[in-house]
Amino acid sequence: MDKKKLKSYRDRLLEERASLMGVVGRNEDYGREADTEATQDPADKASNSYTKELLFSQSTNDRLILQQIDEALTRIEDDEFGVCVNCGNEILTKRIEALPWVRYCITCQDLLERGMLNEEE
Ligand SMILES: [Zn+2]
Repeated sequence: MDKKKLKSYRDRLLEERASLMGVVGRNEDYGREADTEATQDPADKASNSYTKELLFSQSTNDRLILQQIDEALTRIEDDEFGVCVNCGNEILTKRIEALPWVRYCITCQDLLERGMLNEEE
């Protein structure tokens, strides 16, 4: 892959990483706040725990993406970027443009979604 393109993906990954870190941080602050503002009203309590649950699952997803971004950055360092981590085939540029941290080619992604890919590394 040409250096200029690689650098632009790297910039995008770093940018995305920074913004996700901001989001994750904010959610954690919010979670703590909801905790300290303990109220005796059961309805409020329920809605608080619902919000917390929602935030938790959202930040779990953010963390997952963060992890994938970090891995993608490592692959750039290792000169393995743009190649499927499962089969080693080149990933379509279209896919990388959409999600620079994508790990799989379309074939392996499909297998993964159908639970037919062993994700062990
Ligand atoms: Zn593949």
